[in-house]
Amino acid sequence: MHTQEFLRADLVRFSQAVHAKGWVANHDGNLTCRYAEGQLLSTPTAVSKGAVAPEMLIVVSDQDGSVLQGTRKAFSELKLHLAAYRARPDIGAVIHAHPPQATGFAVCQQPLDPSIMAETIVSLGPRIPLVPFGLPGETQLDEELSHALSQADVVMLGNHGVLAVGPDLETCMLRIELLEHLAKITLVARQLGGAVSLPPETVQKLSDKHASIFPRDGVAQVSGTPAASGDAQSIVAQALRRLGN
Ligand SMILES: [Zn+2]
Repeated sequence: MHTQEFLRADLVRFSQAVHAKGWVANHDGNLTCRYAEGQLLSTPTAVSKGAVAPEMLIVVSDQDGSVLQGTRKAFSELKLHLAAYRARPDIGAVIHAHPPQATGFAVCQQPLDPSIMAETIVSLGPRIPLVPFGLPGETQLDEELSHALSQADVVMLGNHGVLAVGPDLETCMLRIELLEHLAKITLVARQLGGAVSLPPETVQKLSDKHASIFPRDGVAQVSGTPAASGDAQSIVAQALRRLGN
């Protein structure tokens, strides 16, 4: 049960962590989390993630991104976050960054294969979608991103960077960390002749384990199939209750 005070401290902490990790430069990267019904707590535009302070944070509408609280402006990539929350009513947070190695693969439009290691399959799933390049707000990008997030919790954005969703900011951070680690390992493996995938039956067992740990409650809404546990509104309400709102 997280208070709004906790969420504000968390957003500052993970903004600075994303910068300290070297996953962003200049004003790159952005973080949001569910804050209250219909509201997201967000980093503002035009600030280094290493310099984000509590008084800079803004609260925005999860529908149109308009600023509801705070004196700073919203970042232009907020539309990516809004699309992610629309696609995944079960999530509580989104982090977008440009970690250099994973982004290197994204700018070469080369997907990363998590099936070369057990840990990446269990934690990230058997595939990491690579969404074709698009500008934030373009309908096609929103649709591609929504589809990708129905399959995975971390996605690569072609010619751009990465985006992770999760119940909280810490989980998003860990997902990007593991994706970046996979990118580093893949680069080393290529120098040594190329990674060898695990046998399909092992990949299936590990994928099943991933699916049982991370059921992605809200995904049924994306595919148009009614969720067994309730409609989209009740899923949002459940997510907010988990956040303590
Ligand atoms: Zn970006």
